[in-house]
Amino acid sequence: MKKFLKILVLVIVLLVAGVLGYTYISFNYYAPNDPEIEVDPSSQQYFQDSYVECRSAFRFQANKLSTKIDSVQIFSRIVPSKTDDDLTLDFCYVPAQKETKKLLILTSGTHGVEGFVGSAVQKMFMNEVLTVEMLDNVGILFVHGINPFGFKYVRRVTENNVDFNRNCDTNKSLFSSKNSGYNDLYTMLNPEGKVNTKSLKNKFFLVVAIDKLLQESMASLRQAILQGQYEHKKGLYFGGDNFEPQLAILGEVFKKISLDYESVFNIDLHTGYGERGTCHLFPNPIDDSKVKSTLENIFDGYQINWGDSDDFYTINGSFTDYIGKLLSDKFYLPMLFEYGTLNSQTTIGSVKSLHNMVLENQGAQFGYKSTSDSLKVKHSFMEMYNPSSEKWRTKIMIDSKAILIQAMKNYDDL
Ligand SMILES: [Zn+2]
Repeated sequence: MKKFLKILVLVIVLLVAGVLGYTYISFNYYAPNDPEIEVDPSSQQYFQDSYVECRSAFRFQANKLSTKIDSVQIFSRIVPSKTDDDLTLDFCYVPAQKETKKLLILTSGTHGVEGFVGSAVQKMFMNEVLTVEMLDNVGILFVHGINPFGFKYVRRVTENNVDFNRNCDTNKSLFSSKNSGYNDLYTMLNPEGKVNTKSLKNKFFLVVAIDKLLQESMASLRQAILQGQYEHKKGLYFGGDNFEPQLAILGEVFKKISLDYESVFNIDLHTGYGERGTCHLFPNPIDDSKVKSTLENIFDGYQINWGDSDDFYTINGSFTDYIGKLLSDKFYLPMLFEYGTLNSQTTIGSVKSLHNMVLENQGAQFGYKSTSDSLKVKHSFMEMYNPSSEKWRTKIMIDSKAILIQAMKNYDDL
């Protein structure tokens, strides 16, 4: 009997060790596969390594456009900051050449660090998609680096730790929104103290997250985390307690440029959500059936994630929704592109993504235990929003070009 018990204990210990070992390895060495595609060197030219270089390259492409097309306007606005006087919103407005009927607003860097890819897509659009023939009735406004602080300092958020995509509205009642689900998860999302990537809690973050998952469904967890919160200034997904300064600047420019146009179509470029190497069409929920069917026409043949799948979530204070509220007299079409990087549609991918964000925010608030912790966290964070993989970049550029050419044609044909 004693022998049997000993064997039983041994089997249990081995089983637990096996499960923990498997969890440890699959989480800490997680690296989703790149898309199967041959690298196209010409796609890589649109990627630069810093905000300042991305901005220069954007201005270069804008100037090039102005030599080919009439009346192009290129201008910048400074975003006020406590620490940096060279943060700008950069605009390139290409007016409709015959009749001002339809305006496309193509925006990047709403989440600062996602601006590297957004900037690349904008420059490819300027250089490879845009032709004078497209512009009879359609004008285009490019806005580069909507959150220049986050872009320059490699954060998602602004200087005030604000998620700009939770901060946009025409009404300040946004800031009294409540998110009780978030408060239940507060300690998991916002650990205090210096980041130590080697701590047991970090090495086994997947176990901590699975424990939460067993208590709640993935969908309700995702919703609680992602919808935005307005109570914890240092916390993840903080939507602010006031509007960030660039909102008023953007609002003023949008009003002025859109004045003579009948319809406005926004594509806001994001990364980090969904299947690696895939461009997901992912608007915030839309009730208006005419807007929905028009977007379905524009993106005919592509799947739009309308919010009926499990991995769906809604957010408060979104930037694309704000433009619709601001320009309420126009026929407004909101769209968001999400370029997937870490397969966040899977459980392990979404927990890994969340962990990257938790560590980066903890580091920004409390610092790092060592230089290697800082380098490791910042590297994973950058790779999540701006993968260095040439295959990934090739796939994104090729797919974006095809989608944008079709979208321009179908928008024009409406
Ligand atoms: Zn984003």
